[in-house]
Amino acid sequence: MSDLERAGDAASPFPYAPSRESTEIVSLQERYGLFIGGELVEPKSGAWFPTISPATEEPLAEVAEAGEEDVDLAVESARGAWERHWRDLPGRERAKYLYRIARALQERAREFAVLETLDGGKPIRESRDVDLPLAAAHFFYYAGWADKLGYAFAGRTPRPLGVAAQVIPWNFPLLMAAWKLAPALATGNTAVLKPAETTPLTALLLTEVLQDADLPPGVVNVITGAGETGSHLVNHPGIDKVAFTGSTEVGKIIQRSLAGTGRRLTLELGGKAANIVFEDAPLDQAVEGIVNGIYFNQGHVCCAGSRLLVQESVAGPVLEKLKDRLETLRVGDPLDKNTDVGAINSRAQLDKITELVQAGVDEGAEMYQPACDLPERGYWFRPTVFTSVAQSHRIAQEEIFGPVLAVMTFRTPEEALVKANNTPYGLSAGVWTEKGSRILWMASRLRAGVIWANTYNRFDPASPFGGYKESGFGREGGLHGLEPYLAFEGAG
Ligand code: NAD
Repeated sequence: MSDLERAGDAASPFPYAPSRESTEIVSLQERYGLFIGGELVEPKSGAWFPTISPATEEPLAEVAEAGEEDVDLAVESARGAWERHWRDLPGRERAKYLYRIARALQERAREFAVLETLDGGKPIRESRDVDLPLAAAHFFYYAGWADKLGYAFAGRTPRPLGVAAQVIPWNFPLLMAAWKLAPALATGNTAVLKPAETTPLTALLLTEVLQDADLPPGVVNVITGAGETGSHLVNHPGIDKVAFTGSTEVGKIIQRSLAGTGRRLTLELGGKAANIVFEDAPLDQAVEGIVNGIYFNQGHVCCAGSRLLVQESVAGPVLEKLKDRLETLRVGDPLDKNTDVGAINSRAQLDKITELVQAGVDEGAEMYQPACDLPERGYWFRPTVFTSVAQSHRIAQEEIFGPVLAVMTFRTPEEALVKANNTPYGLSAGVWTEKGSRILWMASRLRAGVIWANTYNRFDPASPFGGYKESGFGREGGLHGLEPYLAFEGAG
C-alpha cells in the first residue's frame, strides 16, 4: 500500500501524503549549561538531566540542573546588571534591544518552531503559526511601551522593581518566556528565567538571540532544573518580584512562602473553562470552536474549553457534528504538517490524563474516542469526549490538561451561568450565540478573566490575560501586564 493510500484509509475522505518538516535546521548541542552573566556556564552543582522528545522518547540533549549556588550566581548577575546600567537606561534604548529580539525571533522562526515541536511534542503547525508569531509579537508590543511608561500611567511616576524571578510551564515554552521577559525588560527590570524541566530547549536557544542582540550580560539569565531549582529561585532573598505560571498546587506553595516578605507576586495558574453553546449559535462554527478549544495543543492549555455546556435543544446535532469532526482529526507525528493532535508532553502528564479519564469512566460518564492508530513509541492520547457528565464528577471539576472534553447540557442562560461558575477556577470562558445582548449578559456575570465570544483560544499581546479565584491573580499582556513590574513614586 502506498503512503498516500495508507494516509487516506482513516475516516477522512481526503488522503494525505506525509509531509514531515525537516529537523535539519536545528543543530542540537550535546549539553547545555546555565545562561548566567551573558554566557552558558557549567553548573556548580555538577548535575545534568536529559530532555527527551515525547513523540519518540529519544533523548535530545543534556541540560544543567541548577543548584542553590547556581541560583545565587544567576540572581547576583541579574542584580549587578540592573544596578550597573539597566535600571538607568532610557526606555528608548531598552526598546532597541526588545525590537532586535523580536526581529531575530521572526528571522529564526522556523528553527525555533521545529525545536519547540521536538522538545514539547506540539504539532509543527501550531509552533509555526501560533507560538512563534505570538512570541515575536509580544516582544514587538512591549518594545513599543518601553519609552512610553510615563504616558501609560498618567499622573504616576513608574520605576522598575529590580530583579524578577520568572518560572514557566511546558505547554507554551517560548511563548511563556516571551510573556515573562518582554514586560520585565520593557519596564527596566532584569530577570532570572526558569523554563520547565521537560521543555528547556527553546529558552536556551533564545539565549543565542539575546547574545546576538548584544543585550548587556546579566540582564536575562536562564537557569534550568525542576521544582527544587524553581523553589530556590522564588525564595531567594535577592529578588524583588516573582512571576509564576504553572499549576495551582505549586502557585499556592509559592504564595505561602512569599507571604510577609514584601516581594511582589503574580500567579497564572490552572483552569477549567466552560465553552457555552446556545441554540441560536452557528453550530458548524461552534463545533470548530469546541475542537479548537480543547484539542489545540493536546489540551495542554490553561484556558482550554474543557467543559462544554450546550443548550439541551441542540445537544443532539452538536454532539453528532462534534463526533464527525473528531474522526477527521489527525493524531501522530507532531513534525508532520498535517497533524492536528501531537504527543502528550511527558510520561507523567500521560499518566495523569489516563488516571482522570479512568475516573470519568468509573464515575459513570460515557466516553467516546475516534478510532485512530497511534504511533507505537512516544506518549499519545486520543481526542476524548465524555457525555452523561455530572457536575460533581472529577472530570467536570479537575483540570485534566489533556485532550479530554466533558459535555454537560443546560436549558436557560441562568442555568448555564450557574454551571459555568461552578468551579474553583476562573481563567477563561467561551460564549456562542447570535445575540449580542446575551454575550454581554453572560460576559458580565461569568467569573473568568478572559471571555471569548463566537471564537476561542485567541491571543493578542495587547490584550490582558489572567484569572480569578484559583486561577491566580495579576495580568499578563497589554497595559495591565506592565504594572506588576513597576513601583510608583510615593507608593512604594
Ligand atoms: P507546575 O506547577 O508543576 O510547574 C510549573 C513550573 O514550576 C515548572 O517550571 C516547574 O519546574 C516549577 N516548579 C515546580 N515546583 C516548584 C516549586 N515548589 N517552586 C517553584 N517552582 C516550581 O505546572 P506544569 O505541570 O509545568 O504546568 C501545567 C500547569 O500550568 C497547568 O495547571 C496549567 O493550567 C498551568 N498554566 C497556566 C497558565 C496561565 O497563564 N494561567 C499558562 C500555562 C499553564
